[in-house]
Amino acid sequence: MPRLSTDEDNNNSLISCCFSNLFSRNRQQPTSISADADQKKAYAYSAIPAMDRLPAYEDCISQTFKHLDIKHNSVLEGIVEKALAQVDSELRAISVDLHEHTELSMKEKHAHDLLTSWLEEKGFVVTRHAYGMETAFLAEFSNGPGRRVGICSEYDGLPGLGQGCGHNLIAISGLATAIGIKAALEQGEVSGKVVLFGTPAEELSIGKIDLVGKRAFQDNVDTCLMLHPSAKDQQYAQMIAVHDVKVEFFGKPTHASATPWEGVNALDAMVQLWNNISMMRQQLMPTDRVHGIVTDGGLAPNVIPEHTSAFFFVRTPKYTELKRVMDKLEGCFEAAAIATGCKVKWTWRAIPTKDVVQNNVLASTYATYMEKAGISFEDRYTQEHSGGGSTDMGNVSYVMPAIHPMFGIHTTASNHTIEFTKAAGTPQAHRDTMVASQALALTALHVYSSEQYFDAVKKDFNDTVPLDEQH
Ligand SMILES: [Zn+2]
Ligand SMILES: [Zn+2]
Repeated sequence: MPRLSTDEDNNNSLISCCFSNLFSRNRQQPTSISADADQKKAYAYSAIPAMDRLPAYEDCISQTFKHLDIKHNSVLEGIVEKALAQVDSELRAISVDLHEHTELSMKEKHAHDLLTSWLEEKGFVVTRHAYGMETAFLAEFSNGPGRRVGICSEYDGLPGLGQGCGHNLIAISGLATAIGIKAALEQGEVSGKVVLFGTPAEELSIGKIDLVGKRAFQDNVDTCLMLHPSAKDQQYAQMIAVHDVKVEFFGKPTHASATPWEGVNALDAMVQLWNNISMMRQQLMPTDRVHGIVTDGGLAPNVIPEHTSAFFFVRTPKYTELKRVMDKLEGCFEAAAIATGCKVKWTWRAIPTKDVVQNNVLASTYATYMEKAGISFEDRYTQEHSGGGSTDMGNVSYVMPAIHPMFGIHTTASNHTIEFTKAAGTPQAHRDTMVASQALALTALHVYSSEQYFDAVKKDFNDTVPLDEQH
């Protein structure tokens, strides 16, 4: 039987009032934007709450939490703390191993084998090579009926940078969090199931998108949580949507000196495209991003290039805004082809990487535990204005309540730098990971122990992700 104090018969009306206030702000915001008709509204939106609304928001959260009775349960905290302490040195060894033996996306064989062996040894039911992906896995533990919480581990590195995104720490944060939850389940403090998802190829934004497509999360868990190392602690880290496109121009080759007038120059089309995009930027929103590289610029300087290609990323704060920029970019492709007499072909990837919708209830609970451990957070406005990368966890956050907080590892270096690679290997980063993992495990335990709490989590999800976007 769950023993966590829940105070289920608290004043529900206050909670629903608070949450409806909280979420009404989201409902006021457009979820899709038609560019020309509504520029002003679109700019005001930009996926970022306005500063003057924050106090009301903060008040609402704190009031709601008072009534959800998120009081610290010393029994559960003791269980999680002890469970993590018991595996601390083993997790440090795994982290160092992954840091020293970095594998690239979809090639994480060593990590897959190392993590699955350890999890099996610790009593999890492990599915290797899950869902037809060579380096994906599932590790489950259940003590009976109840809610089901998913946790994600990532383990891929970056070419030339090793663990420049600290995924060795994400790998062990998943293990630690799952171990902490499992200990509480084993001791009968809560009831349900924990599933650790081993998700490959985050750096290519493949693993979780593929797993969502195969309903790996939807069929196995009710909510999904994970952590990511960074320079800062952020429970509301802004992770934006990204889509990518390959564009090719086709011309006619000829001798570049003897008969240039007989050719059609595919490189001219590429140069024209770059200029088109540079001019298009004036009409983009300040929060939009378009960036790319030329992947084929021709074969020889004395041959008019017959074929050129480039690869672009398009980013917007919400995935529903991507189309606005995609349409403009396609106009640039076509215009470059027309101007130079080339043919053009472009290919968008099948599914974009969505922005992360941080579940407000889960994020606030996580922050509460981190603050108890002495970690402080910048205000939400600052967090959501500090720029951000993208992650395939975004697609998970559109099918179920999810969080992807960033935890600081005592570095000022940005992710994807050699300095961050070094930071991700330090004993201090390991200690930071264990602190954050404990906070995440304790957050997850509220999902098991209180139906009222999980109702609030679900309500937040339904209010922040419209029904027709829950896929
Ligand atoms: Zn990364
Ligand atoms: Zn990363």
